[in-house]
Amino acid sequence: MFNLDLNAAASWIKKRGYGTVAIQLPEGLKMDALRISDFLSSSSDADIIVLGDPCYGACDLFTDYRRYADALIHFGHSPIHPQENDEDIFFVEVRVNPDIGGYIRELSDKLPKKVGILATVQYVGLITAAKATLEEMGKEVFIGRGDGRIFHPGQVLGCNFTSAMSVQDKVDAFLYLGEGDFHPLAAAFGVSKPMTVLNPITGEVRSVDEAKERMLRKRFAAIESAKSAESFLVIVCTKSGQDRSTSADMLIKRIEELGKKAYRLVMNEIGPDALLPYRVDAYINTACPRIAMDDSARYQKPMLTVTEAEIALGLREWEKYEFDAITNP
Ligand code: SF4
Repeated sequence: MFNLDLNAAASWIKKRGYGTVAIQLPEGLKMDALRISDFLSSSSDADIIVLGDPCYGACDLFTDYRRYADALIHFGHSPIHPQENDEDIFFVEVRVNPDIGGYIRELSDKLPKKVGILATVQYVGLITAAKATLEEMGKEVFIGRGDGRIFHPGQVLGCNFTSAMSVQDKVDAFLYLGEGDFHPLAAAFGVSKPMTVLNPITGEVRSVDEAKERMLRKRFAAIESAKSAESFLVIVCTKSGQDRSTSADMLIKRIEELGKKAYRLVMNEIGPDALLPYRVDAYINTACPRIAMDDSARYQKPMLTVTEAEIALGLREWEKYEFDAITNP
């Protein structure tokens, strides 16, 4: 179903003559880790080390790989600038390339004249063909370029929709290619244009408006309950692409100005059990914003993103609610 260019990875190892190579895979590919390890070690002279910790994105790149290996191959994600500049790291993206021409033609009537196309990294390879098909159907199509966190035109992350923002003034609506709500929800929060979601595998077409409203209601409740908190745990993540210490500094200063108590907690893997020992009234998570937004029900105390904490601490109005995007210059 999906394509992983293992031959390119093996050629890279051989060409550069690495003796030991670490491989890092997201959870969805860990089932293939041993097969990939066998393939790479038999196609090159390198010893392969499998990194077993959870991996959620290129934001979670194992930058400490030189302690164990000469090089790192990161599977499943595109680089977040400036990761691509490390010549001892190779990124192998997952690509899925079904023919979606029929689906696009079918839904074309439901789209306005000017359309922006977005996709997750697995489906960015479909954007060019989708654009050509929509143009055949008389549409004007725009593909935005994101900031340094975004590698491909039109690509979105669960925390970054700058490719959508860059063309939002030119389009009447967006067409998002991908599965699930995780990524299109980020884009739907970030731009004020209608968002049609096409699942490239099943052809299902849907809107994320309802999911967005549901999430907003939950976020409102979390913010309201954190307003009366007297003590906060401000969480800073050690993952290379999630460290927002500057935001933590700003929020801690504000909490203290209000005469409340702030504790800074620095950690790598944020989860409900890891926070249990810390007796506070609310958590503020400066790491991946989706931990608070998507998983808040798993935590015993209200957990807020940075922009939500600004509302709870009186720095921003609820009417100016913003998705807590992580952006790179
Ligand atoms: S949404 Fe979270 S896990 Fe995904 S790239 Fe952004 S910070 Fe990383």
